[in-house]
Amino acid sequence: MRFFSALAVLPLLAAQPRKSILLITDAEGVAGICRQEQTDPNNAELRALLTGEINAAVEGFLEGGIEDVYVWDGHDGSATLSALTIHPKARLIIGGLGRTMTLERGYSAIGFLGQHSMAGVRAGIMAHSYSSLGIQNLRLNGKNVGEIETRAALAGHFNTPVIFLSGDKAAVEEVKALVPDVETAAVMEGLARHVCISLSAEMSRQAIRAAARRAALKIGQVQPYRITGPVAIEIEYTTRHSLRLDAGHALGGEVLNDRTIRYRGADFLEAWTRARLW
Ligand SMILES: [Zn+2]
Repeated sequence: MRFFSALAVLPLLAAQPRKSILLITDAEGVAGICRQEQTDPNNAELRALLTGEINAAVEGFLEGGIEDVYVWDGHDGSATLSALTIHPKARLIIGGLGRTMTLERGYSAIGFLGQHSMAGVRAGIMAHSYSSLGIQNLRLNGKNVGEIETRAALAGHFNTPVIFLSGDKAAVEEVKALVPDVETAAVMEGLARHVCISLSAEMSRQAIRAAARRAALKIGQVQPYRITGPVAIEIEYTTRHSLRLDAGHALGGEVLNDRTIRYRGADFLEAWTRARLW
């Protein structure tokens, strides 16, 4: 009898999905990165600081029970990270990911590392929404948003929660307003766009590793950030990117003024797929 009940449990165990995370990485929220020229993907200091934080996060995720850690090189052209220096147990994703960011693969969770706040945030270090030079403001159903909320909503569309964020204090506050249960590490505080108080690399790595471990232990408890109902995404460009005369012919698009276009969709993914950020 005992033999048979043990067998009956086996398929259940086998069906348990492996715990996985997609870690979206950026530059402007890495400890010690505060000036624009430091964000050049070829900058050796950026590479070392970013890689150190990522590897600390990977270590924390593994300690907390995540088996598969996918790290996306999300900063400027996906040209900052290297397989030579990334954590040996992580997998590195290089290149542009398109509209779904591979989320259809069904990760257990996503996280943000080196994240900055959205355009227009007071004292957010290098705050911007996808493009400092190209986009003045991005709005989701009338509310200003940046990379954090749009990607959280995209993940939510695929039922995937945000469990972790490291970055400057403004980015941490931004994600906490959406996902109160998210685990975070604020590694810098902005005093102005290019003025910051930063932790040392060593202390930021320690804080990130601990937060990543706590986040991994919370998988299954944090709810996905979902936007229900029809969605309008409004892009207000900067003056140097005013809209072409034919812009209004885009699917779901409506030109509001010379620099602003609105895309509508039946749900977040449809509107997001239609929206052209630049
Ligand atoms: Zn960014």
